[in-house]
Amino acid sequence: MMDFLTQCRAIAGDAYVLAAPADMAPFVTDQRGRFTGKALAVLRPGSVDEVAALVRVCAEHRVAVVPQGGNTGLVLGSVPDASGAQVLLSLARLNRVRQVDAVNRTMTVDAGCILQHIQEVAAAEGCLFPLSLAAEGSCTIGGNLATNAGGTAVLRYGNTRELCLGLEVVTPQGEIWSGLRGLRKDNTGYDLRDLFIGAEGTLGIITGAVLKLYPQPKASITALAALPSPAHALQLLVLMQDHCGSSLTGFELMSRYCLALVAEQFPQLPKPFAGPHPQYVLLELSSSESEQHAVGLLEHAIGAALERGVINDAVVASSVAQSAGLWQLREHIPLAQAKAGKNIKHDISLPVSRIADFIEVTGPLLDAAFPGCQLVCFGHLGDGNLHYNVAPPPGISNDDFLLQQDQVNRVVYDSVELFGGSISAEHGIGALKRDELARYKSPVELNMMRAIKAALDPLGIMNPGKIL
Ligand code: ZN
Repeated sequence: MMDFLTQCRAIAGDAYVLAAPADMAPFVTDQRGRFTGKALAVLRPGSVDEVAALVRVCAEHRVAVVPQGGNTGLVLGSVPDASGAQVLLSLARLNRVRQVDAVNRTMTVDAGCILQHIQEVAAAEGCLFPLSLAAEGSCTIGGNLATNAGGTAVLRYGNTRELCLGLEVVTPQGEIWSGLRGLRKDNTGYDLRDLFIGAEGTLGIITGAVLKLYPQPKASITALAALPSPAHALQLLVLMQDHCGSSLTGFELMSRYCLALVAEQFPQLPKPFAGPHPQYVLLELSSSESEQHAVGLLEHAIGAALERGVINDAVVASSVAQSAGLWQLREHIPLAQAKAGKNIKHDISLPVSRIADFIEVTGPLLDAAFPGCQLVCFGHLGDGNLHYNVAPPPGISNDDFLLQQDQVNRVVYDSVELFGGSISAEHGIGALKRDELARYKSPVELNMMRAIKAALDPLGIMNPGKIL
């Protein structure tokens, strides 16, 4: 293997081929600290040509490649396995914004650009790049594309897939495919771009992308509504869409337990209501006119919801600053969970119309199987996406409860299947959900996926063990 590492060093430079365990440590443990893999080396190329040359060396030596962006994934998609035989290829040094085209409303970027940096560059040009998620300060756009990440603006702007017009990819053979077209219409055969998006690095390495930009809204205003049940939240969603159309840019459901957890772990955050309510919805409205217009639209819709008994109560933020305070409640749910201890996470999607029924049915099923377990149920209701996390019953340790992960997953995913949903909405499959995917996808669908993988990566060196 010395020969292999020598070749890699000749391409990327000694400083960017890490082989000492201490140097590799930050790259091989997943973001939740649940798994630490072992790498043969960590490669940190500084250009697309270097990525391609390194992949050619890996193909020649039959060394498997695990691409990594910000290592913020939640399904063990961007860490190596325990064999010590795989190399980790970090895209972090490819972090240039290559071009902004304000008239075409596109931005061409390297895959290693941090999402927040892209948002800031877009804003400086008077544009909006709408992808927004909790890890935006450290996740990279390449990882967002590889997992087709969702987040809090999907309702209005779509997933990462909808925000991408072109890709540049290094193939498993070490060739460079330049598909960096900024075209909104392009019907010229198979859509390779959409094949690589969401493939989690199993078909090739995304090194660059053309992203879609939007006009920057003049103002975004937020409200927090309190509701009797998830069914009322669905009524509110329909009412808001009827009243506000595409101005509705966020619609996040949070259960009573979620906000109680936030209040317990972060007592300094605002407490908008005097007493607890069964469910809450965080609403966001954006206006291309003015803050006043957004507030007016929101107050009118909230008034209608109160009048019809769809909601119990509501707080409308009167300024952008107050809106940020309400968003903090939503954003602190994952942090509060992490402080409270480990839980078994599910990132599921359902037809929007069936979410309330899913919640009503699945909670009692879990309680019957694991009495006293706590549900941390929140998510992007407008997209049909729930983060449906199960925490241990009081008195049961985290580690003991995690031993029952397979049984908990079975109850949740069987229910998801019954309601026509998906076991992964926005986090991907990685290594964590690979066996579950094999269980819930049809043989026809799995065989087509395997055929694509075998055709593009016949040596099986691109992120093996992930997805399939
Ligand atoms: Zn989410």
